[in-house]
Order: sequence, then C-alpha cells, then structure tokens
Amino acid sequence: MVSNMKKSVSHFPLIVSSLMALTLILLPEGARGEVNPDRGREDERGPFEYPVKNFSRLAWDRGDFKLVLRARSFSQGNAVWVRIQRSAGAAGIKDPELEYEGRRVAIARNGDDYEGLFAIAPDERPGKKAIVLRRQETGRQINHHFEFNVARTAFKQYPRPLDLGRYSNISIVPPPEVVAFIEACAAKKREVFERRSSGMLTGPVNHPRDAHFITSPFWAGRKYLRYRMEKGRRVYLKPSVNAHSGVDLRGGKGDPVFAMASGRVVIAEGMYYEGNFIAIDHGSGIFSLYMHLDGLAVEEGRTVRAGELIGHVGSTGLSTAAHLHVSVTIDGVYVDPISLMYAVPR
Ligand SMILES: [Zn+2]
Repeated sequence: MVSNMKKSVSHFPLIVSSLMALTLILLPEGARGEVNPDRGREDERGPFEYPVKNFSRLAWDRGDFKLVLRARSFSQGNAVWVRIQRSAGAAGIKDPELEYEGRRVAIARNGDDYEGLFAIAPDERPGKKAIVLRRQETGRQINHHFEFNVARTAFKQYPRPLDLGRYSNISIVPPPEVVAFIEACAAKKREVFERRSSGMLTGPVNHPRDAHFITSPFWAGRKYLRYRMEKGRRVYLKPSVNAHSGVDLRGGKGDPVFAMASGRVVIAEGMYYEGNFIAIDHGSGIFSLYMHLDGLAVEEGRTVRAGELIGHVGSTGLSTAAHLHVSVTIDGVYVDPISLMYAVPR
C-alpha cells in the first residue's frame, strides 16, 4: 500500500535522512517499507499485498437501511465486518445499537453509515446466529432481527507434543525475580487489553509480513511436553494442551514486521513468554499482537499506520525458532488474523 507510506524524511537527523534518501531512490516504486525514525534504518521491502480474492457477504434490505456483513467465511474463528448502510433518499437511522448473540458490537459512524467488527469465536457452537439492531424512532424502540448461519472450522490438530526446552522442564523453578517479572507482564496485559478506546478500525488491513507462509495455523491444537528431572533423567508428565491463539508466519531473523492496521502502540517491550512484544490498539476493543520479535522499531504511545514497520522477526521469549506470531482479538475474543484482511474492505 504505497498510498499510506510516509514520504517525508525532513525531520530526521541529517545523516539518517541522507542515507534513507539514497535507499529510496534505489528501490522500485511499490517495494518500499515504512521509513522508521526510531531505528534509523529503512526497511527494504514493503508489506506484502495479500490477494483477497474471495470473501463472503450477506445483506438484508429493510427499506430505509441495509445491513451488510462481510467475512472470509461465516465460520468459527473469523472476524466479521458489519455496515449499517443508509438507503438512498432515506432519512438515515440515528444512534443504532447492535448485538451479536446478545453481545454488544462496537460500531462507529462513517458518513451516513455505521461500521463495526465482531468475532465469531473459534469455540463458538456452529449453527444459527442472531443479530439485533435497536433504534429509537419518535420515542419508541424498534428492534430489527437478522439471522445467519455459522459453519464449523476444521482446525488443525498436532498429534506430537512440542518440546519447549527450558519451558517444558518443570524442575526449573524460576527465581523470584523471574516470577515477579511474569506477574508484572500479566498485570500489564490485563490492564491494556481491558481498554476500550474510541475509534474504529478502518481499512486498509495489511499483511504483517512481506511474504505469506503459515507455519502454524490459527487455533491449531498443540500439545507441549512437560517433564521433571529425577536423577538426571526425564520423567514425563501429561502434556499440556493449548489452542494456538494466532498464526505463525515464516520469517528469518531480522525480516520486517508491519502493523496490520492503523492504531496506537500500547505495548512495546520484552515480556517473558512473548519475548519482544508489540500490541497495537485499533480502537473499540480491537488489538493486534506481534510476538518473539528480534527488535522493536516503535515505542509505546506512538501512533502507527497500516503497513508501517514496527519491528523485526526473531525468536525471543517462548519460541523455538525465528518466526512471527500474530494474534488479533476483538472484544477479548481471538480470531484468525488473516481473516481480518478479508473482512475489512480496502
Ligand atoms: Zn504462534
């Protein structure tokens, strides 16, 4: 997405800006990444424009407005984009409220329309789902009801337990300062992810890498080895079972990582499990999370745009090899991050 790339380098230190200017000239149009003033180097490649070819769409016409839903597919673990669209010539509806399966969906005004995103949880029961739109008309409440079907997703299951090195060895009792660090990380995450800042994620949504190759898909069932040491030998315990809360994308150490959408960086620090960790708040309870980074290219509090370089692929924290783990949460529910690119129109 060249259109949202920062072109000006005028506020950078002279030596950095002249180096960047040189690099910019050498790169073909469309291949540029975001210029990053914090790191003082320019990324070589732009975010991969993931080809969104097929998505599913549902629409209901209710006279003065239309309700439109859009998703990669209406199945478990997908993000769903919703638009309440004013019909031509109609007065438009005022301050509507939206619910999906009894849960409030955050919507924001966009011109005459309203837009929002909700999650079909990965563990949500497939079948008929209800959307209710509430509106006030001349002092009385009108409820509009909509129904659609959610399909099952065949999430991958890994039969073999994964050895996580020192994390699998429960005989290694972390020293008190590490325990305190883990607790401090958890407290920070709780505080940040409870926030519901104003604003709504709008397009475009970019790929977080410059190449698309998934090494571990969303909600894959993974077992982790657990053992304790007895007389120098491993005594295996029942493996712990986890669902993979994001996607792992292939990348070598130092490869660029890009913000999936515009928002504010709310975490940019090293954490115990996540390693070098970035979280971006996209507004209305939508967050994207980037883990195991080698380096952080942005600071907490900074506003970033879709496709901006935020860090580099690494293997820090609970990670066995260099890769990028990306998660997306909508109102506390994990969805497949890739599904967000299909849901939000460009
Ligand atoms: Zn992962």
